Amino acid sequence: MPAATPGPGAGRYAPSPSGDLHLGNLRTAILAWALARRTGRAFHLRIEDLDRVQEGAAERQLEDLAALGLDWDGEVVRQSARAEDHAAAIAALEERGLVYECYCTRREILEAPSAPHAPPGAYPGTCRDLSPAAREAGRRRMRELRREPALRLRAEVDSWQVHDLWEGEVTGAVDDLVLRRGDGVVAYNLAVVVDDAAVGVDQVVRGDDLLSSAPRQAHLAHLLGHPAPTYAHVPLALSTAGARLAKRDGAVTLRDRLERGESAADVVERIGDSLGLARCRTAADVLARWDPAALERRPWVVDLPA
Ligand code: GLU
Repeated sequence: MPAATPGPGAGRYAPSPSGDLHLGNLRTAILAWALARRTGRAFHLRIEDLDRVQEGAAERQLEDLAALGLDWDGEVVRQSARAEDHAAAIAALEERGLVYECYCTRREILEAPSAPHAPPGAYPGTCRDLSPAAREAGRRRMRELRREPALRLRAEVDSWQVHDLWEGEVTGAVDDLVLRRGDGVVAYNLAVVVDDAAVGVDQVVRGDDLLSSAPRQAHLAHLLGHPAPTYAHVPLALSTAGARLAKRDGAVTLRDRLERGESAADVVERIGDSLGLARCRTAADVLARWDPAALERRPWVVDLPA
């Protein structure tokens, strides 16, 4: 199926520039691109560089995506350049009484008894309803620790529903999630929602390790007055040992494969094979032939020749 002219709506791929993309990341990128293009959407790239940045990695990632045949619309967005919008979103929530300061350390949160009926791992609410005196004491303590208080959402729901292309309706936990961390960096959950909305993203394709974050993010979108995107969470790539694919698993990046004498087309062919599509040589072949409804829902076990 030929790519349609972009209409309203957009998809995106949003890598963290912590190193070169491996085959699993590249597969997710191709699928995000293909799903956006086949549904007539624009496609955006965003570099999520709020932390875990490796010098030069973003540029290499863009080169690798282009080498596989992906194209994108508009400028590549750097998340670190979007601080004003992130701060404005937090301020908008604050104005509605939906933000509070949190003075807990990570350890205190882990050790605190969880609130009754709270989902596992949810913030126990320690700092939610502190007296002004207790807040002052918390702030003093933060100054001593040379940290800022984290900012948390005062959540008024404990769950939210999203729609995932493959999972259908998914209901997941919403807690008093962090909006800005104690080191002053805006939290991923807030940034992703604000940045997607800013460029009209209404289709989020990414690894299924993030499925459990989708309800929180969709709820934040709702609070900020943005429509919830539809989600499509793609199974992760695993090593033959069954762990999440990583650099240490050998020659798993495009550049590694090129060094082994393969071409970018060979790498696309591997990715096509993982989707049950033989002899795809460019991302456009995947776009033309991939049927999203037929996606194999198990992880992709990447078994490379030694
Ligand atoms: N930056 C995240 C990652 O590389 C993806 C975030 C997202 O797609 O929402 O895992």
